[in-house]
Amino acid sequence: MSVFVRSFVRCVKFRSVSERIGIDCGSFRVLQPFRFCHGGSRAIAESSMLCRTLDLRSDTLTQPGESMRTAMAQAIVGDDVFGEDPTVNELQKVAADMFGMEAALFVPSGTMGNLIAVMVHCRERGSEMIVGDLSHMHIYEQGGSAQLAGVHSTTLTTSVDGTFDLEQLESKIHHSNRDVHLPCSRLVCVENTHNIMGGRVLPITFLQQVRAIADKHGIAVHMDGARVMNAAVAMGVHPSDILKHCHTASVCLSKGLGAPVGTMLAGSKEFIQGAVHARKALGGGMRQLGILAAAGKIALLDMVDRLKEDHRNAKTFAKALTQCDPPLYHVDMTSVETNIVRFRLQVPGLSQTRFCELMGEVSKEEIDALDQGVRVLMFPYIGGAIRAVWHVGVSEEDTQLAIKKAQFIAQQVWLKKATN
Ligand SMILES: *Cc1c(COP(=O)(O)O)cnc(C)c1O
Repeated sequence: MSVFVRSFVRCVKFRSVSERIGIDCGSFRVLQPFRFCHGGSRAIAESSMLCRTLDLRSDTLTQPGESMRTAMAQAIVGDDVFGEDPTVNELQKVAADMFGMEAALFVPSGTMGNLIAVMVHCRERGSEMIVGDLSHMHIYEQGGSAQLAGVHSTTLTTSVDGTFDLEQLESKIHHSNRDVHLPCSRLVCVENTHNIMGGRVLPITFLQQVRAIADKHGIAVHMDGARVMNAAVAMGVHPSDILKHCHTASVCLSKGLGAPVGTMLAGSKEFIQGAVHARKALGGGMRQLGILAAAGKIALLDMVDRLKEDHRNAKTFAKALTQCDPPLYHVDMTSVETNIVRFRLQVPGLSQTRFCELMGEVSKEEIDALDQGVRVLMFPYIGGAIRAVWHVGVSEEDTQLAIKKAQFIAQQVWLKKATN
């Protein structure tokens, strides 16, 4: 069989997206998270004295704490485009050592970090990169690799656990010197933890296998490791034990690690030289950057350990949903590995959007029943699911409040059904 036929046969064997992410719903839509606005109920204003808001929409919502703000105010800075900001240089050294890479570079965002990696790995016109079809790089980065880097992507079917099929990977690698019709594969990207699949941790054996295939064909492996620190904490390993299987990685400082801005891009010295160049072209060369790097240093040095609290709280919440009486929620507990919980509703007729509205507003009934009002903000998510994300701004007590609220909503939903 030719490569084409083989990969086509493999493609039809893969199931639909909603089936794959374990959610049986009719239509598949990629919801645009930042268009949604929750709460806003008039009831909230009336009872604002009794209200608390727990924001589980994303771990990007974290506020820098006291120590970060102090470090930022006191940072010694220089012009980083000249390479003369001591605080940035320190952060880059800390990151490189921690990741087990030769060098690292501060970039403004995860999106820019991934784009720079694509630009540096795929310099030649006609290069192609291979990504998961439900990866952040493919879905949520505006196709920047095509739009700005001129790089073509081909996709692999993302599995429920965030991995992809290795035979499918190998079938998609080609070298243009063998066939004039084909682009030349240069790069394969993995995502750890996998965002859309609910914070899934990629198994080390998978990373080893991807790397072995990449080495065999002379292509690079880039990890979109926005939440790779969550993966390291969940597996109880050093981040370098994960990252050593990749040539390059981008790691967000501004998610669970709590910094206000920034991503560390890491790789070989030569790769980082190319990355500095590409960052400047994208407008990411920043001057007295040490003010941000000071927060980044605290994120890497002091905030990694606490991620396990987020994981514990996420599990507690997920488990409580499965035990909720009356039942309203369905959670696949095996998918809850880190700080993200995805669940779906078992009651027909209650939309994910309406449910998020109910969680996000406080009714008089709630105050009467619980003696307090809690707004819990969550996002409707892909495939009919709802997503909740734990971070430094949500404590164990907050998690208990969120559980109470979820139980209260389940009661209300069943009560209304009974009286309808
Ligand atoms: C958040 C995220 C990014 C991008 O980060 P930004 O800093 O928002 O650009 C990339 N990949 C994954 C998996 C993410 O979750």
